[in-house]
Amino acid sequence: MQAPHSLWWSTLPDPVVPRATLREHLDVDVAIVGGGFTGLWTARELKRRDPALRVAVLEQSVCGFGASGRNGGWASAYYPLGDDAVIARHGNGAFDQLRRTLQRAVPALGEAARADGIDAHFVQGGSLKFARSDIQARRLRESVDTARELGDGPEDLAWLSESEAVERARVSNALGATFSPHCARIHPARLVRGLAEVVEALGVAVFENTTVTRIVGARANRSPEAITVGASVHARYVIRATEGFTTTLPGERRRVVPIYSLMIATQPQSRSFWDEVGLRHYETFADGRHLIIYGQRTNDDRLAFGGRGAPYHFASTVEERYDDNARVFALLARTLQELFPALEGDISHRWGGPLAMPRDHSPYVLVDHASGLASAGGYTGDGVVMSYVAANSLADLITAPETATEFTTLPFVQHHGRPWEVEPLRWLGINTGLGLATWADHVEGHRHRESRASHWLERLLAG
Ligand SMILES: Cc1cc2nc3c(=O)[nH]c(=O)nc-3n(C[C@H](O)[C@H](O)[C@H](O)COP(=O)(O)OP(=O)(O)OC[C@H]3O[C@@H](n4cnc5c(N)ncnc54)[C@H](O)[C@@H]3O)c2cc1C
Repeated sequence: MQAPHSLWWSTLPDPVVPRATLREHLDVDVAIVGGGFTGLWTARELKRRDPALRVAVLEQSVCGFGASGRNGGWASAYYPLGDDAVIARHGNGAFDQLRRTLQRAVPALGEAARADGIDAHFVQGGSLKFARSDIQARRLRESVDTARELGDGPEDLAWLSESEAVERARVSNALGATFSPHCARIHPARLVRGLAEVVEALGVAVFENTTVTRIVGARANRSPEAITVGASVHARYVIRATEGFTTTLPGERRRVVPIYSLMIATQPQSRSFWDEVGLRHYETFADGRHLIIYGQRTNDDRLAFGGRGAPYHFASTVEERYDDNARVFALLARTLQELFPALEGDISHRWGGPLAMPRDHSPYVLVDHASGLASAGGYTGDGVVMSYVAANSLADLITAPETATEFTTLPFVQHHGRPWEVEPLRWLGINTGLGLATWADHVEGHRHRESRASHWLERLLAG
């Protein structure tokens, strides 16, 4: 399996040398399938709670091969499910606990990496979301009003006027922006590769180029098992941490859908560019359109920029060729140039990968003590911090099953969402939604001011 051609991968300080493949049967306490943030943070948190635990990580490629080594590097307190939906499903108390846990988790993640000696280029400069039309301005102002009603103060989410916004980042056509301090920028591959080394030093066995073909729960006198091509691992618990690749495992086809997010990076920009553009505190940036875009200023002064818009592939298939989509790369390059007309030089890197979206948009952490099967994921595009929180939930549930902790009482813990529809309904529904979001952005882009069509589309997308 090829390592992705991401900027992150090509700017790692050390070459990636694959670890050993698992070739013989193994007995451990916890077997973790997947060497991304979820798998590796969980291994770390298990060993921190109980150093005697025997833990193994089984990775089909190399650690960080998945979304964890390819993402936009927003370590944010964002949650994939809207605030209203969290409150409707779980109540105000649960919403408040979730929000504060995620807000605390942003600096906690940075501190954990620092304590482990990982230089992940973590800078908590906050996040800017620009309004670049009247419609976006209204939507973003409303989001600030809603946040106030739900108890967030200006220190959590603020509206910046046009001059305040462009003082932070000179984005074209900006009418204002929201600013949240609860976001840091990271170099994701440095973090995930560093974590693999950290867990090995804690005594975790990490196997690479080791594909798990089947996960089997406990049955008559047999412990749960992770079965690979040439061996199997028996454990008290087997944790599935496969996120965007989950549908490639037997029986998991409708658990989540793989959604492709694609990214580009520019050459390093000159001092005069940054003098004009700003982003002096490494704020991450986006705007108020429907189809998500995200960007950051990297440590070596490039812009790394990504967005959705690649199609969903029939039957939830995951293939390396889907990481590459010339139409989406061209659209991203055009959008970035529009945001920053002073941009210099060519695009140096293009890459992408699958993230996982559950049917009800809610992440999940599941531990079944009877079968010994556990899993975590469904973070959609907010998995950098969510995976760290989910790992803490998993580690608490496994090492102290009787004790309720701040991580085991969160609304996504033991949350069983419903499966996705069968095909071709899944394909039709998801691609229609993507098409509508693209069309709505097009309509809004052409009508600076609000129209009946834009209101109608907005209601349709919100529903
Ligand atoms: C382009 C892109 C941009 C993103 N940007 C952001 C962002 O800025 N902020 C944010 O919060 N989130 C972002 N996300 C989402 C975030 O990266 C993920 O939610 C997070 O990394 C998930 O971590 P994970 O460990 O659960 O999954 P992954 O990192 O995908 O790890 C799963 C691992 O499991 C392995 N695996 C799968 N199947 C098997 C098997 N059968 N046997 C053995 N190993 C297996 C895979 O090879 C992979 O390494 C982005 C995602 C993408 C794709």
